[in-house]
Amino acid sequence: MISNKKHIALLGSTGSIGTQAIDVIENHPDEFKLEVLTANKNADLLIQQAIKFIPNSVVIADENKYNQVTDALKKYPIKVYTGNKAIAQIVEIQTIDIVLNAIVGYAGLLPTIKAIEAGKHIALANKETLVAAGELITKLALQNKVNIIPVDSEHSAIFQCLVGENNNPIEKIYLTSSGGPFRGKNIKYLQNVTKKQALKHPNWNMGKKITIDSASLMNKGLEAIEAKWLFNLHAQQIDIIVHPQSIIHSIVQFQDGSMKAQMGLPDMKLPIQYALSFPKRLKSNFNRLNFIDFPKLTFEKPNTEIFRNLALSFDALIKGGNMPCILNAANEVVVEAFLNDKVGFLEMPDIIEKTMQKAHFIAQPSYPDYVESDKQARQIAISLLMK
Ligand code: NDP
Repeated sequence: MISNKKHIALLGSTGSIGTQAIDVIENHPDEFKLEVLTANKNADLLIQQAIKFIPNSVVIADENKYNQVTDALKKYPIKVYTGNKAIAQIVEIQTIDIVLNAIVGYAGLLPTIKAIEAGKHIALANKETLVAAGELITKLALQNKVNIIPVDSEHSAIFQCLVGENNNPIEKIYLTSSGGPFRGKNIKYLQNVTKKQALKHPNWNMGKKITIDSASLMNKGLEAIEAKWLFNLHAQQIDIIVHPQSIIHSIVQFQDGSMKAQMGLPDMKLPIQYALSFPKRLKSNFNRLNFIDFPKLTFEKPNTEIFRNLALSFDALIKGGNMPCILNAANEVVVEAFLNDKVGFLEMPDIIEKTMQKAHFIAQPSYPDYVESDKQARQIAISLLMK
């Protein structure tokens, strides 16, 4: 009998999105089969996942962990590979239907490109892919007739609102933001905030990088760039609105003025499941929203003078070319530095802005240009950190 299950390559299976995706897949054994699992360094969890799901292959990016993984899996019919190149190659295997890219950062770009070139549909959590090289990715997806289904909750919300709208143009979208842990705080307060405070997100439990991005509102800026490419929008069609309860996940406004919003309790499993099951909706036992528990849904304007990353992201979005790639690379450098107590919270946008000013601008970058821009921006940001 031919199986109708979707065979999934889960890149970044050991992370926050990766482990939640595994829960979704485990709850729907008739729908999904895990074909590939990958991790960066977390060999222990990767081994545990592999023994439980017996995928065709696993990849551990860190070559120092290769022996540990091969030894632990030698009794099982699982192929083991190592290195970042192997992650980019494994997505091409014939038995994969969908690649769920849940890697964090620019490292997710090349595997997405290779997967699209191999004709695999993409469930995309790795927003940095579209931020760094959105033009290239959307062009490739069109050429290869590949769907890119967003996993990010805001983009999944927009995507869900667009189902059934065929060619009805979007007038505007509203991306909602919780405002993060520092909503309403002033510059004086932010001068001395610590990573411990920044890592305490009010509504979502996520990986460290995106949690810091949420505290600095860079995450919303990256999402605006991601939305531009996913939904073919101009900067003027993208509005950011702070909605502290995180119940409305985002809103589409059509040309007749009608607005559609997608809502629910904050739970990433829902957009992950929808990206994998699209166009079907599968049953779930996720907690349901009770409106009575949320008698007030409130909305505010974000403060871009305090949260400058948001303004810088829109500058990059409008400038286009390799500027979002430069912004992204500088941001990855400063977030890592902040997590290592090497830079203050408010210094992050300063370094990003200076990197954007210093890096070489390319209006129509090719893939090698993106690689070079990422490298150059990292070097500039690191040199600024050391001043
Ligand atoms: P995590 O840090 O929790 O997980 C990242 C995953 O990627 C891990 O499996 C990690 O492996 C792997 N990884 C890290 N670096 C590399 C590398 N250089 N090469 C290969 N693999 C690597 O991140 P999240 O799950 O929070 O986020 C993943 C992506 O999803 C990000 O782009 C984020 O913006 C996006 N996203 C996340 C949301 C969330 O709720 N977490 C919500 C919306 C979007 P290891 O564990 O071995 O280090």
